[in-house]
Amino acid sequence: MWPRAIAHVDLDQFYAAVEMLDFPELRGQPVIVGGLPGARGVVSTASYEARKFGVHSAMPSSQAARLCPHAIWRVPRMERYVEKSREVQAVFARYTDLIEPLSLDEAFLDLTGSQRLFGPAETIAWRIKDEILKETGLVASLGLAQNKSLAKIASDLKKPNALVVVPPGAKEAAEFLAPLPIGRLWGVGPKTEARLREWGLRTIGDLARCDTEFLMRRLGAAGAHDLQALARGEDDRPVVTAEAPQSISRENTFADDLQDDAALERELLAFAEDVAARLRAKGLQAGGVTLKVRFGDFTTLTRALQFEEPTDIAEALHAAGVRLLRTKVSRQGRGVRLIGLAATRLAPRGQAVATLFPDEKAVKQRRVAETLDRLRRRFGDDAVTRARLLEDRPRNTGTPTDTPRK
Ligand SMILES: [Mg+2]
Repeated sequence: MWPRAIAHVDLDQFYAAVEMLDFPELRGQPVIVGGLPGARGVVSTASYEARKFGVHSAMPSSQAARLCPHAIWRVPRMERYVEKSREVQAVFARYTDLIEPLSLDEAFLDLTGSQRLFGPAETIAWRIKDEILKETGLVASLGLAQNKSLAKIASDLKKPNALVVVPPGAKEAAEFLAPLPIGRLWGVGPKTEARLREWGLRTIGDLARCDTEFLMRRLGAAGAHDLQALARGEDDRPVVTAEAPQSISRENTFADDLQDDAALERELLAFAEDVAARLRAKGLQAGGVTLKVRFGDFTTLTRALQFEEPTDIAEALHAAGVRLLRTKVSRQGRGVRLIGLAATRLAPRGQAVATLFPDEKAVKQRRVAETLDRLRRRFGDDAVTRARLLEDRPRNTGTPTDTPRK
């Protein structure tokens, strides 16, 4: 049994493969699915036969037509691709509920718990691959590893029609990654790759071994930390299912209407702590915040703002709530009966390296938050709290709320 088993499944030449499935005369031909060359379109998917001529996804169709003049063009039939994608998802669903689709032809599966029912992770991965082919006629490439980033790299390594297993363990992860070119690292785009290469870092192993101080001076603490963790094969991001909530919120109705600004802001801090911890537990970040206020006369208003950068940190949620309360809510002497804070515009925590323009304060706050999460997991929710929240808090009837996605 693997302590953690994550598979990344990626269908090979998906749109082109569906076309070949439905129109067998296209098999073995250079097929390009995309906007037709005359109409300023771009290539959606090129079959492997067309790729031999240098055609690839997102290339202008006119250029593709020059590179591969004898290509057979197909206009995308999205409804059909969605249908085939659902058939593939049905295979996944036999083995796990923890499915994170990245697109129609790509998904992460958490197979950790599936091993008790279906045996070792490798066996399950092979079964999924075989059943996709048997039942949908499509070929998939799979990566199986102890985390998302390794699985994603593995599925792409020997495409098409491959299953690459990275055995669990820190040493195994490091050995798998070390010889690979730095551009293979998930989250390293062409620009970052070019910079890393300028500094003499060519393989992922080079990056893992590189002096951290050297990287920190150039990328900042957060960038250096994230990149080297990925280069060592460390990645604790959870598989986030499509049923992730739309918002995570906390609100309290007070036994007596609250008049005191400081007390209201302290309540918001408690809510922000709770909401941020639940975001982190679900592997989500908030793109915005909504503040809800109900006055003693039952008038209710909501005020919202968006973040420049998504966050899962209590301080950021609290600061946003306080800002809304101070600048967008006109109390006119009324007492507050209910106050609530919601994290909105939720999305899985960054798939890429955090940021190469890091904010030192945010990095420190996140470290503190992660430490608190660990302590709470070990000793219970009430084990740690902020000094500010030890002051007397108003009596309330609050319950946490997740808003399910419709
Ligand atoms: Mg694909």
